[in-house]
Amino acid sequence: MTDAPTAPTPPDPAASGGPLVVMQGVNKHFGSLHVLRDIDLTVDEGEVVVLIGPSGSGKSTLCRTINRLETIESGTITVAGRPLPEEGRGLAKLRAEVGMVFQSFNLFAHKTVLDNVTLAPLRVRKMRRDEAERRARALLDRVGLADQAGKFPAQLSGGQQQRVAIARSLAMDPKLMLFDEPTSALDPEMINEVLEVMRSLAAEGMTMIVVTHEMGFARSAANRVVFMADGQIVEAREPAEFFESPNTARARDFLSKIL
Ligand code: ADP
Ligand code: MG
Repeated sequence: MTDAPTAPTPPDPAASGGPLVVMQGVNKHFGSLHVLRDIDLTVDEGEVVVLIGPSGSGKSTLCRTINRLETIESGTITVAGRPLPEEGRGLAKLRAEVGMVFQSFNLFAHKTVLDNVTLAPLRVRKMRRDEAERRARALLDRVGLADQAGKFPAQLSGGQQQRVAIARSLAMDPKLMLFDEPTSALDPEMINEVLEVMRSLAAEGMTMIVVTHEMGFARSAANRVVFMADGQIVEAREPAEFFESPNTARARDFLSKIL
C-alpha cells in the first residue's frame, strides 16, 4: 500500500536533545486494580507521543504520574534527568515545568482571560505584572485569541476556552506539555481549532504527550503512537507503521472500533 504523506512532516526525532521523560518499571494500583503495569517509556526532547487505548487502560493515570498528580508504588520517573520531587518547592517547580491540559478546561470562571493566563506567572514566578501581561497577550495572540483578553470564560466557546487553557499552561514556559483528551468535550466544529494550536506547538519543537481519539492528529503530528491496554504499553511505534499494520490483536481490535 502506498503511504503518501498527508500533512507536514513532524519534527525529526533525531534532531532532538535526548530524553526528557524517562519512566522505568512504573507500577500503580488503585486498591486491587493494577492500573499501570511495568511501564517503560522514554520521551525525547521535541518528541510528540500520542497515547491511545481503550477507556480505562490507564492513559490518564500515566499522564498524571508525570507531574505527580498520582504517586507510584514502584519504578522511577525522571523529568529532565531529575527524579520527581515529592513535595514542597520542587513539586511546584515540576508542575510549572510540566503543563497539563485536561478535557474540562478548568479556567477560573470569575477571572478574565488575561488574568487566567497571568495568574501563575504572577503568583508562582513572582513576575512583574506588566511583564506577565505582555507575555500573556503574546500567548493569546499565538492561540488566536488576541482580541478576547478582557472576556470571561463563560463568554467564550469551548474551543476558545481550551485555547486559553493552553495559553495558560504555556505562560509557565513548560518543558513538556501533557494533553489529556483536550478535544473530547468540544463540539465537532471546534476540535480543529484546538488541534491546530497543538500542531503548531509540535512544529515549534514542544515535547508533548497527547491522549486523544483524533487519529488524524496522531498520524500527522505524532512521532510515535503508544497503544495501552489494561495498564500496559502494548505497542509503541511510528504512526504510519502502527496504523497500517498493528502488531497485536488488541491494537487491531481497538483500531477497528474507532477508525
Ligand atoms: P483511561 O484514561 O485510559 O480511560 P484511567 O487512567 O483514567 O484510564 O483509569 C484507569 C483505571 O483506573 C480505570 O479502571 C479507572 O476506573 C481507575 N481509576 C482511575 N482513577 C482512579 C481513582 N482515583 N481511584 C480509583 N480508581 C481509579
Ligand atoms: Mg482518561
